[in-house]
Amino acid sequence: MRVGVPKEIKNHEYRVGLTPAAVRELTARGHEVFVETKAGDAIDLTDELYMKAGAKILPAAAEVFDVADMIVKVKEPQAVEIAMLKKGQTLFTYLHLAPDPDQTKGLIASGAVCIAYETVTDPHGGLPLLAPMSEVAGRMSIQAGAHCLERAQGGRGLLLGGVPGVSAAKVVVLGGGVVGTNAARMAMGLEAHVIVLDVSLKRLKELDEQFGSQLHTLYSTMDTIESEIVTADLVVGGVLLPGAEAPKLITEKMVREMKKGSVIVDVAIDQGGCAETSHPTTHADPTYMVHDVVHYCVANMPGAVARTSTFALNNATLPFTLALANMGADAAMKADAHLRAGLNVYKGALTYKAVADAQHLP
Ligand code: NAD
Repeated sequence: MRVGVPKEIKNHEYRVGLTPAAVRELTARGHEVFVETKAGDAIDLTDELYMKAGAKILPAAAEVFDVADMIVKVKEPQAVEIAMLKKGQTLFTYLHLAPDPDQTKGLIASGAVCIAYETVTDPHGGLPLLAPMSEVAGRMSIQAGAHCLERAQGGRGLLLGGVPGVSAAKVVVLGGGVVGTNAARMAMGLEAHVIVLDVSLKRLKELDEQFGSQLHTLYSTMDTIESEIVTADLVVGGVLLPGAEAPKLITEKMVREMKKGSVIVDVAIDQGGCAETSHPTTHADPTYMVHDVVHYCVANMPGAVARTSTFALNNATLPFTLALANMGADAAMKADAHLRAGLNVYKGALTYKAVADAQHLP
């Protein structure tokens, strides 16, 4: 199969669909890979590395789209990219179609086979191609939060782990899923005092078994949230109700009662955020203050560490990319129901119910 990798064109997007290592896995199996020049330049994945892995470098995205049977990307296609998609061509990337009727219409009109990373499933009910980005964001939330706690950033002037003779900061993590577990792990590594709240007893039990007495777990209720939030130095919001907007667990009243210079890192901001006072920010201007509390609400946190994120994403997507290339999209999806769950648009038809429901389409 001919696989194409265009350079990402969304603002400040430096990730790339395939690493040179992934390209080598494809070319070793007899596939041809076409990479747009400078696709990975920003994260030091040079054209030379891609050529060494067996790729052919093309000078423009139009040529990549023209020659490829399958396009592998990171972000949802922009309008100019949708216009280049061909009938029957496979597109494998993040799509996030539900809130995006224009993209949905464009992909339906293209006649392409569009498989979304974020809806591919695994046998345990998880979303394996979304999880790596939650791992990145969860880990990053602690380094972002630690920075925000510095006085010059508006924070309380606290070191997360304290020092001998001075207390460590209190870190409260809402949601003990992928984001929450990774945040807790990083915070414990820095020797902060860490509490995780979740409504899943099963999850709390797993966390307790994994981390022992170093991690404090609490069942999440209005009472426990309120008492923990108002005494926290750093709060990480990592809750998720699958397919729905994040619940507003942190009320404005609680924020008003928080300590001056404490910090909220609302990772769940991409689903609306779990604090009433949250609104999305960007890496260019990541924080703002409400009631003397620093809010960090960047909606695409993994973009800041594009090199780590690219490798993490490729580790998760590679088995599926190989299956699609080896068998072709139709046979690969027939053979694997979890990959098939990623199918959102098939040759002119919308095939994903949640997207149809969100957009009131048949
Ligand atoms: P997950 O499903 O692994 O974990 C969510 C957890 O929240 C679950 O354990 C669930 O039981 C818990 N939860 C639900 N309701 C709760 C409540 N009332 N109180 C406490 N816990 C509750 O999800 P995840 O992969 O960890 O993702 C969390 C959020 O982070 C999602 O909204 C995701 O989209 C977002 N995210 C954001 C970025 C970013 O750049 N901002 C990056 C990755 C993920």
